[in-house]
Amino acid sequence: MSSSEPACEAVVLFSGGQDSSVCLAWALSRYGRVETVGFDYGQRHSVEMQARKVVRSQLAERFQDWKGRLGGDHILEIRGFGAIADTAMTAEREFELTDKGLPSTYVPGRNLVFLTYAAALTDRRGAKALVGGMCETDYSGYPDCRREALDALERALNLGMAQDFRIETPLMRLTKAQTWALAKGLGGDALVNLILEESHTCYRGDRGARHDWGYGCGDCPACELRAKGWNAWVEAGRPELAP
Ligand code: ZN
Repeated sequence: MSSSEPACEAVVLFSGGQDSSVCLAWALSRYGRVETVGFDYGQRHSVEMQARKVVRSQLAERFQDWKGRLGGDHILEIRGFGAIADTAMTAEREFELTDKGLPSTYVPGRNLVFLTYAAALTDRRGAKALVGGMCETDYSGYPDCRREALDALERALNLGMAQDFRIETPLMRLTKAQTWALAKGLGGDALVNLILEESHTCYRGDRGARHDWGYGCGDCPACELRAKGWNAWVEAGRPELAP
């Protein structure tokens, strides 16, 4: 990184999925310089990694205001964590509910680990804001998506790193339908179409079939959630939500 590069203001946890793509657009609309961080934790599919590259490059190409604001991308390798987690995200396991009532796709404490790594990076990059797509609504009850857990982590990070970071979660109270509305509010139909075509959500890494709501297998929990949100947004008349 050269010293003439603008100072980083926000780091976005960016997976290439629908939610984090909207978060990246949200951050680009309010910060002068935004960098992204992604995690290689031994995912079953490299489709996500490909989607990250495409979404980033198209955000810069198609949105002139955002082009100069999009800074570097950081991939952090945390495969040791993926090995511990060993759930349906990283191993061949069926999608089902565990005895805690959580989907088998849940990786214990994943967001806490991601945010701790991201905070160390954010410290090094000189930024104050960490932006993530965590959401309490429409989710499957993942405990590390709760704002209360993130408030506690924010406090621990600030105490432990002598910082004043803010963990910003623009999707926290939105339904999946409202997330599409926010995308429209941020970048109009151009952003909706970019996210529809290029973001990747399917747990199976399937991009074989194009549905109304984008690509995916159509029957994993992530596809079902995405389809439901899209259909609800379309039925509501594709409303726009101001950021
Ligand atoms: Zn799927």
